[in-house]
Amino acid sequence: MPSLMSQIDAIIMASGSAADAIGRLSEVKDLHRIERIGAHSHIRGLGLDDSLEARYVSQGMVGQKEARRAAGIVLQMIKEGKIAGRAILLAGQPGTGKTAIAMGIAKALGEDTPFTHLSGSEIFSLEMSKTEALAQAFRRSIGVRIREESELIEGEVVELRIDRTADGAGKSGSMTLKTTEMETIYDLGAKMIDGLTKEKVTAGDIITIDRGSGKISKLGRSFARSRDYDALGPQTRFVQCPEGELQKRKEVVHTVTLHEIDVINSRSQGFLALFAGDTGEIKQEVREQINAKVAEWREEGKADIVPGVLFIDEVHMLDIECFSFLNRALEQDTAPIVIMATNRGITTIRGTDYKSPHGIPLDLLDRTLIISTSPYTEKDIKKIIEIRAEEEDVEMAEEALELLTKIGMDTSLRYSLHLITAANLVCKKRKGSSVEIPDVRRVYSLFDDIKRSTQFLVEYQQEFLFSELQENLPEDA
Ligand code: ATP
Repeated sequence: MPSLMSQIDAIIMASGSAADAIGRLSEVKDLHRIERIGAHSHIRGLGLDDSLEARYVSQGMVGQKEARRAAGIVLQMIKEGKIAGRAILLAGQPGTGKTAIAMGIAKALGEDTPFTHLSGSEIFSLEMSKTEALAQAFRRSIGVRIREESELIEGEVVELRIDRTADGAGKSGSMTLKTTEMETIYDLGAKMIDGLTKEKVTAGDIITIDRGSGKISKLGRSFARSRDYDALGPQTRFVQCPEGELQKRKEVVHTVTLHEIDVINSRSQGFLALFAGDTGEIKQEVREQINAKVAEWREEGKADIVPGVLFIDEVHMLDIECFSFLNRALEQDTAPIVIMATNRGITTIRGTDYKSPHGIPLDLLDRTLIISTSPYTEKDIKKIIEIRAEEEDVEMAEEALELLTKIGMDTSLRYSLHLITAANLVCKKRKGSSVEIPDVRRVYSLFDDIKRSTQFLVEYQQEFLFSELQENLPEDA
């Protein structure tokens, strides 16, 4: 197999430039996203204030305050990089906003953090093994932020060398520091900033940064013998300002996912396979090679790992093989945070005869933080319908909104949300400008909710094929 770098080079040549290639990758990703989040397009974040309290209505989110607050804490942990490899379970009745909350987290994380949405049932319909589909989803959720230097231009970013040993032998890399004055470092871009904020640094100075505490000290120029460095141990990272002038550089940063790098390297037409979505199975040895390469880039300071989020909706649809894969995959160094959602109570774990809460094996549940969602009040439902109507550009009279709210309370939130567009079509048909009560009544009579549909089945069961009325009917039918 040709080396990774030569393949990436070939791709860059074929597509014009790295920026171009990566630009195209993110276009593909965006299309994917838009298609999936239609029902949640009104969600723009979790709607929390600075102290992570949920505002009643904010960023398209309504109510469900406890769960949103918990999600906010998770979000904070993700942002601080403290939660990679953990699992969160959103558990609650249908239509209580579990997916909406996961979308809220995705939005709040921003574009640069990979977010993969997978439905439990999806993995059974793909043309690959279930565990391969999960492995790909995991790697789609891990970003690699690659830094590329462009031409030297006037700017704010200064490059300093980091040398592991004083004589320059051994491993070396580079890091980027921002300055506003040539000799004062203001921003290390990481948590280790504090100690250095007011430190004056001139070319040739050596700075040490403790990887654990982040404490920064300036050692001055005389500290230049390798045994002194070694005495400080591997906890310490060294930044040595280059002799002579500090150089100003502009940096270009790209974020791609591990999966994208895998695909590019797994076939000769790899890059095109990303567009077609037909990536096939990827060999374990390719993944291992990529892992080694990325580890090397990290070591050299050329790349960082961005742990993203893998959201698995309808997680109860996974089977025991998938659950044990998840258990193992969560232990890996580069695991993303896994958020699962389910509306099931105590039910059978697929692929076994055992029952378990949410249909999830106890060993996986045990390593999961559970956030539960609760049913909405009338006020919540009204507000959500109002926001959705606005999102869909539907004008609605107050009485029609109240009727839809009542229907939502009586049937389900989802059913009443579905009626918004339908009622708007009826309104348009009669050349009305806003949805009124008769429009809602009309669509309510045209489309059955679950209760009425079940009632119909009960009354006309003989007319249907394979009717098994005795079992599986809702109690109030
Ligand atoms: P299920 O268990 O059936 O998958 P769910 O709990 O994932 O349901 P959602 O799909 O999130 O429910 O909610 C149904 C609809 O209501 C979606 O369009 C969602 O965006 C909207 N919605 C739910 N909760 C809220 C909320 N708190 N604020 C705003 N919109 C919401």
